[in-house]
Order: sequence, then structure tokens, then C-alpha cells
Amino acid sequence: MNILMDKNIKYIVESLNKSRASDGVSIMEVCGTHTMVISRYGLRQIIPETINLISGPGCPVCVTPASDIDTILEITENYDISLFTFGDMLHVPGSKSSLYDKKSEGKDIKICYSPSDALNFAKKNPSRKVILLAIGFETTIPLTSVIIKRAYTEKINNFFIYNVHKLIPEALETLLKDEHVKIDAFLCPGHVSAIIGSIPYKSIAEKYRVPCVISGFEPFDILESIDMIIKQIKDDRYDVQIQYNRVVREEGNPAAIKLIYEVFDKTDSVWRGLGNIPDSGLKLKEDFLRFDAKIHFPVKKIKSKEPPGCRCGDVLKGIKKPFECKLFSKVCRPDSPVGPCMVSSEGSCAAYYRYEKLKA
Ligand code: SF4
Repeated sequence: MNILMDKNIKYIVESLNKSRASDGVSIMEVCGTHTMVISRYGLRQIIPETINLISGPGCPVCVTPASDIDTILEITENYDISLFTFGDMLHVPGSKSSLYDKKSEGKDIKICYSPSDALNFAKKNPSRKVILLAIGFETTIPLTSVIIKRAYTEKINNFFIYNVHKLIPEALETLLKDEHVKIDAFLCPGHVSAIIGSIPYKSIAEKYRVPCVISGFEPFDILESIDMIIKQIKDDRYDVQIQYNRVVREEGNPAAIKLIYEVFDKTDSVWRGLGNIPDSGLKLKEDFLRFDAKIHFPVKKIKSKEPPGCRCGDVLKGIKKPFECKLFSKVCRPDSPVGPCMVSSEGSCAAYYRYEKLKA
């Protein structure tokens, strides 16, 4: 598809070229779906070279640290449980093996398409202990909350979650505080913002003087959002704007936000590459602690390590582009991934490999 044939896109690209972002502007997209669209439609190649699009920690599979993968693997090794996980997590390497390896060894690991698959299985199989690997940002957390409330109301005692949910705004602030990371503006995630709205980004935009634009997912949406960012920079403004206004409201989705905090409280969380970030994760409230797999299935801590040579940590911080990793496309490919950014369908390395390998 030649997207430059599209009248609207042509207009935006011309506007970006006229704006002459001559000093060089680094814009971080914080959503794996945005990363995929940028690579797939070659958006990097049609905007001025002075605009540097960098990918951030927008893929939940990628930011789950090796320590959590290792703990889950230890649980499957030490307890007779049924583990439900989304497909991408299966191939993420831990320090010694992956969930796929454990499944091949005969462990009961099932792929689910919705968190309710795990709860329904637990209800039908009361003698099995069932763990849902609860992963994702603000977009998916309300679904986990619903499942926990259902399990509580229906008194399901053989259902648990291993919770690795994470919150986006806190990670953005951590990146801005990092002197090694150069970010002039954020292309904010559309799905996450449909839940949290635009308000959580306001203090970040003002304090760090970074324009934020919440973008939709069509190529035109992303290009228009970039144009909005460049206009803000030219006008010396640091606002939060909503380009994706057909879905996102300033106040977000108050019912979904209420659901999240009926079940969870904020807590610190470790992100791959970014380390421990205060208040960037969630823990079950006291009433729901009986669903916490970390409490019910204790395992000894093992010393986790990143795959040798893998630069996923730097890729997730926007310090390195995937092709700057020495393993990219040589040793690390989607059919033999070394790190999570090549495993996940939303990972930056997978996006570059699929769509930008020859341009790298
Ligand atoms: S190319 Fe592979 S090894 Fe390198 S950073 Fe990406 S996922 Fe890790």
C-alpha cells in the first residue's frame, strides 16, 4: 500500500516537511501497537529525518522482568497447577528455560484468549489449582478486576492470579528522569488512555516540558499526532492533546478506573530495563489476597539473568534501536528469539525485523 497516495496523509507529510524540525526532535511512542503501525507503514521513512521516532516500554510482555518469568517457571516446577497465559508469554526466555519448555515437558500450561477462560476452567475443575498470569497495562486491568470480583462473589477457592500488571504514567516519568534517555515528546497510548484519560499526563507534560499527544492507531492518526507535537514544540507549548478523540475522553473511563481500585492498590513494580518504579504496579487489596498466587505458591528466589548479549533493556528505554543489538536478525529472529522484544507481537525488535530489516 502506498500511503502517500492518500490525500490526507500527503497533506500531513507536507505540513511536517514545511515545519522543518531542524534541531532534531525525539518522539517516543509508548504503545506496542503504535510501534507496529509505524514500522508496517514505513512512517519513519516518510517524515523528515530530523524527527526521530523511538519506541518505549509499551509492550507488557517485553517489560515483564526475567525475575517474574523465573518465579512463574519455578511455580510450574514445584506445584501441580494449571497455568493460563496469553500466547506471547510462552516463548519469553527466563534465566534457564521458558514456559514453552515447561509445556513440552508436560506441565499443564494453557493459552487463554480472555482471563475468564481461566476462571471458567477453575469452576469446572474444582480439584485443580488454577493460576492466571495477569499481564497488561491499564487497558486490561479492569478485566482482571472483574474476574477477581466474580471469583470472590462465587467463592471460587481454586483460582489465583500471578499479577504482573503495570501502570504507564509512572514509567514515563522514570524515563524522563534518566539522563541517558533523550525524549522531547510522547506519543501517548490510545488504548491505555481510553481508560485513564488525559489528566494523568498533565503534570508530566508541565514538569518536564514535554508535549504529549494521545494518538489513534491508523497511519493518519499517528502522523497527525506527530504534526500536533511539532506544532506544540514550535509554539513553545507543553500540553496534553487528544488526537484520538473518537475514543479518548479527558476523564477517561471512570467506571473502569473505579473497578481497578476496588480490587487493587498501587505498589512498586520492577520493569525490564527500567528497574524498580515506585507506584507503577498493583497489589491485591486485603479482601482479595486469597487469590494471590505469589502468597499461595511460594518458591525460592533464583538469581535471574538477562539473555547474554540481549539489549532489550536499552531498547525499552529508547537508548538503542533494535538493529543496534549485535544479535538482531543474525542470532535473534522471530523463529529463534533471544529476548522478549523479538518474541512479542508488539515488541520493537519484532516490528523492525518484520518491516524494517532491509532499511536498517
Ligand atoms: S534483537 Fe533480540 S537479543 Fe537483541 S535486543 Fe532485540 S530481542 Fe534482545
